[in-house]
Amino acid sequence: MAEVTLTNVNKKYGETHHAVKDFSLSIAEHEFVVLVGPSGCGKSTTLRMVAGLEDITDGTIAIGGRVVNELPPKDRDVAMVFQNYALYQHMTVYDNLAFGLRNKKAPEQRIREEIDRAVKILGIGELLERKPRQLSGGQQQRVALGRCIVRNPQVFLFDEPLSNLDAMLRGQMRLEIKRLRKRVPTTSIFVTHDQVEAMTLGDRVVVMKDGRIQQVGTPLEVYNAPGNRFVAGFIGAPLMNFIEVTIKQQDGALYANAPGLNIRVPAQRESGLRPQCDRTVSMGIRPEHLVLGDGAAGSLFEAGVELIEQLGSEVLLNVIVGETRLTVSRVNAETGIRVGDRVRLSMLPERMHFFDRETNLAIL
Ligand code: ADP
Repeated sequence: MAEVTLTNVNKKYGETHHAVKDFSLSIAEHEFVVLVGPSGCGKSTTLRMVAGLEDITDGTIAIGGRVVNELPPKDRDVAMVFQNYALYQHMTVYDNLAFGLRNKKAPEQRIREEIDRAVKILGIGELLERKPRQLSGGQQQRVALGRCIVRNPQVFLFDEPLSNLDAMLRGQMRLEIKRLRKRVPTTSIFVTHDQVEAMTLGDRVVVMKDGRIQQVGTPLEVYNAPGNRFVAGFIGAPLMNFIEVTIKQQDGALYANAPGLNIRVPAQRESGLRPQCDRTVSMGIRPEHLVLGDGAAGSLFEAGVELIEQLGSEVLLNVIVGETRLTVSRVNAETGIRVGDRVRLSMLPERMHFFDRETNLAIL
């Protein structure tokens, strides 16, 4: 097992297409890091450069302290799980599991022991004689994971391994990967466009956009303190609400003002926002941080209920204040609120976020 270090890694396809820009990150031994971002942001390219499946245009990648830039994939001691499982269709599950070690000319006895170990971890004992086409998607993905475990590599690389599975199975496989991690704590890099997967699986999450790292942190760090508006809007479900507000000074205090709203800026945020007086900034508030009724003084406003989404134990309210549409979550389904009602809402003051409209950076 080993740490993985990327230093100023760049990838250009042709002269003009700069797919990964100055990517620097140190992944500790045993750490599980998730690269997350929208399609095309450079996640897979980054992973493939670690695997050796893609050349590096510029920069350095080291695994276990050894620079691997020039090493072919088979010499990097990494194992990769792909979205399409990439199993050999004409071979049995057993032979698929054995393939990597047989290639390395390992003795059959050792191969059998390694397969036994993987089979016990993943519970795929009864599948060994089947061919991949006789397996469900979840079973195929388990075999693909098994193939990695058998090889005992220094690093696991996961390229959107769950995205071909239906929602329920995705949830189950997420748990299986977490369980697997407890027993096989191999350093891992996991690529996904799904922020729920990133939040639930990652020791740390790396949010990417347009080939660049936007923020690196634990799931709670990126949720609680997004460094820019992109991260704020990408992490969290339902999505964060944004309101364009003008910062106004009234009687010595600061207020965030928009049609239908005049919200007192919490005292601890005043120094950061004072330079923005009379300017417009984006205020962010998550749906779960809008609450019905009177909350902290100065954070109350009224809104009209436009739509209600029923979730069973709770409802999502879609409300309009002035010209801004907001989502409110965690509303008890028994409250009897109906479309067309006017409701009183307040914002949890310590949960307000502010972003510069030009740089998109968080204003702290
Ligand atoms: P992600 O995994 O985040 O969806 P990728 O790493 O696959 O993104 O792609 C990043 C960018 O590089 C995209 O704009 C994609 O079109 C481009 N790209 C990926 N592979 C190639 C390739 N082989 N040739 C040219 N451009 C590519």
